[in-house]
Amino acid sequence: MTISERINKIYRLLYKRYGPQGWWPGDTQLEYILGAILTQNTSWKNVEKAINNLKKSNLISIDKLKLLTTDELAQLIRSSGYYNQKALKIKNFVTFITENYNDSLENMFDEDIHVLRNNLLNIKGIGPETADCIILYGGNKAIFVIDTYTYRVLSRHGLVPEQTSYNEMQELFMDSLNDDPQIFNEYHALLVKVGKEHCKKRSPICAGCPLEKDPHTV
Ligand code: SF4
Repeated sequence: MTISERINKIYRLLYKRYGPQGWWPGDTQLEYILGAILTQNTSWKNVEKAINNLKKSNLISIDKLKLLTTDELAQLIRSSGYYNQKALKIKNFVTFITENYNDSLENMFDEDIHVLRNNLLNIKGIGPETADCIILYGGNKAIFVIDTYTYRVLSRHGLVPEQTSYNEMQELFMDSLNDDPQIFNEYHALLVKVGKEHCKKRSPICAGCPLEKDPHTV
């Protein structure tokens, strides 16, 4: 079986066991984007609290976020941890939208996907995983998101060496799968699910894992 065939097989096995994951939780594109920034180094529960705070104050809008100071924003998103840094990242993103896309997310997502990715990566504090989450979950555009769970599962299954770069791993998925944002969306969410339930950092629980029968090294 080729690597591409195994990548597809792993998707089928995960989907068969877990079904659709319903990612990304949220009501609007801006909410998805804020979630993508806030979720760095924290649990989703803490992100939800921060987003609910912004919602309660009716602040999920580019115009309203523009008017807040970084300190005011930091207090509202306190629950998400690293709140000063995250407030700065959100303010940087808002400035980026204003300067490049006339405050319009629609304009931003009309941009060519590769140009948009490069532009997002130029925002201070936005790395590849966050940029790709913004594009995939916020814009529903076909770009694959890589995270620590992806590395862990694929390396334990001998599909990539552990030191594979983010971009190399992303290429592997994008060359192997149909160019469909829905599949990219589900696959990333399913890898997170199996990573949390079975493929744990220190002691993987292979017994009963949906990927138990696929060759692995632990
Ligand atoms: S827990 Fe075991 S079988 Fe499951 S993904 Fe991790 S290494 Fe593979």
